[in-house]
Amino acid sequence: MTSETTVKTLLILGASGDLTGRLLLPGLARLVARGRADGLTLVGAGSDDWPPERWRDRVEESFADENSQADAYGKRELKRVAASSSYHRLDVTAEGRLAGLIAELDGPVAVYFALPPHVSQLACEALAPEQVPAGTRLVLEKPFGSDEKSARRLNATLAGLVPEDHIHRVDHFLGKATVLNILGLRFANTFLEPVWNRQYIAQVEIIFDEDLALEGRARYYDGAGALRDMIQSHLLEILALMALEPPASIDERDLRDAVATVLRASSIKAPYRTSTRRARYTAGRIEGRKVPDYVAEDGVDAARNTETLAEVRVEINNWRWQGVPFILRSGKALGNKRKEAVVTFRPVPHLPRGFTGVDAPNQLRIGFGPDTLQFDVDVNGPGNVLNLDRATLQAELSASALLPYGEVLEGVLTGDPLLSVRADTAEDCWRIIDPVLKSWAAGHVPLEEYPAGSSGPEGWPV
Ligand code: NDP
Repeated sequence: MTSETTVKTLLILGASGDLTGRLLLPGLARLVARGRADGLTLVGAGSDDWPPERWRDRVEESFADENSQADAYGKRELKRVAASSSYHRLDVTAEGRLAGLIAELDGPVAVYFALPPHVSQLACEALAPEQVPAGTRLVLEKPFGSDEKSARRLNATLAGLVPEDHIHRVDHFLGKATVLNILGLRFANTFLEPVWNRQYIAQVEIIFDEDLALEGRARYYDGAGALRDMIQSHLLEILALMALEPPASIDERDLRDAVATVLRASSIKAPYRTSTRRARYTAGRIEGRKVPDYVAEDGVDAARNTETLAEVRVEINNWRWQGVPFILRSGKALGNKRKEAVVTFRPVPHLPRGFTGVDAPNQLRIGFGPDTLQFDVDVNGPGNVLNLDRATLQAELSASALLPYGEVLEGVLTGDPLLSVRADTAEDCWRIIDPVLKSWAAGHVPLEEYPAGSSGPEGWPV
């Protein structure tokens, strides 16, 4: 089945960039080959003077994987999009230039700012509201600002250009399937909702541990660090989905209202020495690979004290969650890859005498990529049936056929901002994190160390 998109032209600013080649174009290829971008025209722009065939070659190269698996229809469509794609040399920060290009294109146009964050801000400031035709969509990448103040400034600029529901602040981290899996689990089953609160849940952990180290991304990462890069922009969104009140519907208004409400109730309590931790990796080995000390990597400024592992304890001050710690952690160059949310239930109030063996609390584990569900329960064990044993109920959840960036782009092309971060939420995520960033910058929380390939600094509950 094929579908016309709301958007007629996708304009990618940053045609030569890493995001465009590695993630955006392959994501677009998924949509194109599946007939979900019918009639779409692709346009690239960059500050370099590229001949048109250089851009078309880049598009074809990024479409190649998809092309090798596509059916005859998919191959034809991929060829059409690549062959009809044009390239424009453009300094997006020069007044009138971007507006001039948008005016030339077949609208509605979606403008994807695949640019360094400060350039995106300047490009938006160089646009005047009357130069942006009705229906234009603006797509902004993370990091959305670098603190609450800069996020507010960027939001104000964007609000002057297009309506909020035409702004897509991308959080590719949660694909649509993953988001809907959390919501389906929570709100389409009778047994969970009655225990999904402070009475029955002791703690929630949201973990995104990577075995990847810096991988040459010092220019961006050394100025950001784990707290900004992962916790502010992604893990707080997952926290919101785990903790929000049942929305009336899964549409952009109701779902995003529920996300905003729970984040407004969330904060990290001072003193940050007890509610946060930060660390940086030193030289080590991951699966036999040598990893250099973080501060020895090209482009790293040791004096910035950038953390590669961060952990914060968030409190949600409402009736449902008061007193339940939400532990958010993310780190690079760790020995164990772990991407999951773990809900730990309170122990049973009384275990009848006669039982022996394991008496561990129930845990529900929601894995992100691959999407899985595991429920650890205590059951009667083999042999002596009163000797308790642990059993795990496990399910593989359906993954989306689209890559995360295919899902992001589908939302953009069909005009559905369901999965994009709303202005108030973007600001609120910074409001939660900003005091910690200030406290860390003032040296109030020590920067610990861990060897690459380890499970983190000693004593961390990793
Ligand atoms: P790159 O540095 O690889 O690319 C930036 C692009 O911006 C280049 O194509 C560059 O073109 C272009 N550019 C810079 N200045 C101008 C200008 N004045 N006018 C026109 N074009 C300009 O960055 P990434 O692709 O890595 O990142 C882009 C955005 O995506 C960032 O916000 C990043 O945080 C975000 N992101 C990136 C991810 C990744 O894995 N790469 C993952 C998630 C988010 P030229 O070289 O011709 O100047």
